Amino acid sequence: MIINCPFCNINQEKTRVIEDREGILVVLSNPRLLPGHTLVIPKRHVEKIWELNTDERKGLFDTAIEYQKKIIERYAKGCDIRQNYRPFLSQSDVKVDHVHIHLIPRENEDELYQKSMQFEHDMWARPSSSELEKFIKLFGEK
Ligand SMILES: [Zn+2]
Repeated sequence: MIINCPFCNINQEKTRVIEDREGILVVLSNPRLLPGHTLVIPKRHVEKIWELNTDERKGLFDTAIEYQKKIIERYAKGCDIRQNYRPFLSQSDVKVDHVHIHLIPRENEDELYQKSMQFEHDMWARPSSSELEKFIKLFGEK
């Protein structure tokens, strides 16, 4: 447990816990991007997802999948699953150095689309053959 980690030390007044199960917490993100933004957090503090053991990985992903299904059945038409690793940013209110998965309920042209994602359209491009070769070599080698 890390003393200054908000996920090792959940502030019950700020962060509402939806479920506390073996090895995993499910909470409402505060702050949140969109209403219903949910976080699935392994209880053991690790910064990198590959540091989780097999049981922790299974618990994390099974819980994330279960809650994505709940979100879609009970609240929104779509739901993004995100996991960020950005060591170049320091910990803040919106960046916590304790592995977690974001579940973000989505609707067509919702606020996140209007304010952010619509501007990604211009970035989509066909990769060149040299770019494809570079990454096939880089990521494909054992
Ligand atoms: Zn922590």
